[in-house]
Amino acid sequence: MDEQLLRIVKKYDSDKNRLMDILLDIHYELGHVSELAVQGIAKSLGISKIDVEQTLSFYHFFSNAARGKNTIYLNDSAVACMLGRDEVKKAFEETANCKFGKVSADGKIGLFNTSCIGMNDQEPAAIINGQVFTNLTPAVAKQIIIGLKEGKKVEDLYHKQYGDGKNALMQTMVQNNILRKGKVLFSDYNPGFVLSNSLKSMSPGEVIAQVKKSEIRGRGGAGFPTGLKWDFCSRFTGGKRYVLCNADEGEPGTFKDRVLLTERPEMLFEGMAIAGYAIGSDSGLLYLRYEYKYMEDYLESVLSLARKENRLGENIGGINGFNFDIRIQFGAGAYVCGEETALIESAEGKRGEPRDKPPFPVEHGYLNNPTIINNVETFCSVVKIIENGGQWFSEIGSEESSGTKLLSISGDCEKPGVYEIDWGMTIYEMLEMVGAKNTQAVQISGPSGSLIGPSDFGRKICYGDLATGGSMIILDNSRNLLKDIVLNFMEFFIEESCGSCTSCRIFSKLLKDKLLKILEGKGVMSDISDLEKWAKIPAVSRCGLGQAAGNPIISSIKNFRFLYEALVQKGVDYDMGFNMEEAVQASCDYVGRIPNIH
Ligand code: SF4
Repeated sequence: MDEQLLRIVKKYDSDKNRLMDILLDIHYELGHVSELAVQGIAKSLGISKIDVEQTLSFYHFFSNAARGKNTIYLNDSAVACMLGRDEVKKAFEETANCKFGKVSADGKIGLFNTSCIGMNDQEPAAIINGQVFTNLTPAVAKQIIIGLKEGKKVEDLYHKQYGDGKNALMQTMVQNNILRKGKVLFSDYNPGFVLSNSLKSMSPGEVIAQVKKSEIRGRGGAGFPTGLKWDFCSRFTGGKRYVLCNADEGEPGTFKDRVLLTERPEMLFEGMAIAGYAIGSDSGLLYLRYEYKYMEDYLESVLSLARKENRLGENIGGINGFNFDIRIQFGAGAYVCGEETALIESAEGKRGEPRDKPPFPVEHGYLNNPTIINNVETFCSVVKIIENGGQWFSEIGSEESSGTKLLSISGDCEKPGVYEIDWGMTIYEMLEMVGAKNTQAVQISGPSGSLIGPSDFGRKICYGDLATGGSMIILDNSRNLLKDIVLNFMEFFIEESCGSCTSCRIFSKLLKDKLLKILEGKGVMSDISDLEKWAKIPAVSRCGLGQAAGNPIISSIKNFRFLYEALVQKGVDYDMGFNMEEAVQASCDYVGRIPNIH
């Protein structure tokens, strides 16, 4: 154990900023991080035990206790539940003879829930020993457990196929489902062309000027102008500059970065190198969500080839002094790490808790140095902007929204998948494109966005109207919007809150409890107005997660108030939310007593 641990710590130069990698490696080799390992890591890195424990306890995929020889993480996103997740869960539990959240008595199987793993177009899906299983059925779930119990390797249990990436290192069940190619991201692409041709005649300032001219806004969801961000960062002096790519797409329902990462990794790395040239940085980090660990070998092979072909490394493209390289930094399961300052904290080996802003990352980012953070799609788009010019890009799309946008479309439609559209498409056009029928509602931008009904289907997908990071979940008339969607989203926010702000931590729970009360038929009219008032409170929270936590309630009451009103009791104005028997039972369960209230 000691030797193993020292070897791992040494691999990362005993650098405390690489604590995430150290914990991931120990997990990979030992299955969990024991108390002894925590002590050993702390000693080797010269930090306190608490420093190690706080990181270890923060992330879903870390554990200080064994999670079984084989660990199954079953996605519990709303779409997974809509497509049969509960039946699959039951089959896992019955065959393993073990409940979710536990490890089987023989220690062979551990069953755990997890938030959206970026597979909404092929649900139900699970991560089993790091491999992704898609389109699960109860029969397949049963076969998986039987195979694992017999001692088979997980690789022998999934149906291997070459993904759309067509690379031997990407043998996986994951299908890329690119169903519409547009003028930018999925147009013809020649790796390295921009680095070895276009950049030669451009100064860093001219690159930034073209990015500004293109009017591209960050594709992760916040929509900040990319050129402006690069310009700010390039002006801050004092310290090394960094280029970070946010590949932590955790918004339930989004999976378009997954597809870019496997179809256009060369383009992504080229975009990061262009950013390095523009702001004067020689170091890039791809912060990749743990859910995409199955891509690791493939992405490393793409990086190696880029180094061999002088698309990374020194004097890139023959430009003297243009040095840039990229390393992959994995997360370990935390939605909040999609927030840029939480991502930085995580990349530095700490809990992914958002920082107070200002200062912004362009001034004090990774290791307190000037840093730009952009989304996968943004970096890919930049390659085409420099190749064809900012003007060319700005003429695609609609007013205020230049270029194309990748949509991850899932739910009730014939053709779920990834679509590259010009900004400005209406929701009606989108529904027709994907073969959606009897659509009751569309969830725009995942839980952080809004739930809209047919009266809004004429609206446009663009920054001036329905802005989106790309997640589009379609819901037909058979769905119970409040139970299947809004309740699932509130549970998601409760699970993913980092807990720092009272407004986020407490009110997500209060909103969920009030919603449950209504769903159970115990609600009264004043509960709806309470929800409306309370749902605004999380907006004062520190980061986007808390600020959006009330959105599922706000937009569903705004657009589907009749669903709430149909469930509450009319003419009753007293609160029926308190149930004496349930409350006594809960407290007895907690202290281990048998209730006696009669
Ligand atoms: Fe953490 Fe929520 Fe506050 Fe964000 S808003 S910092 S997730 S508690």
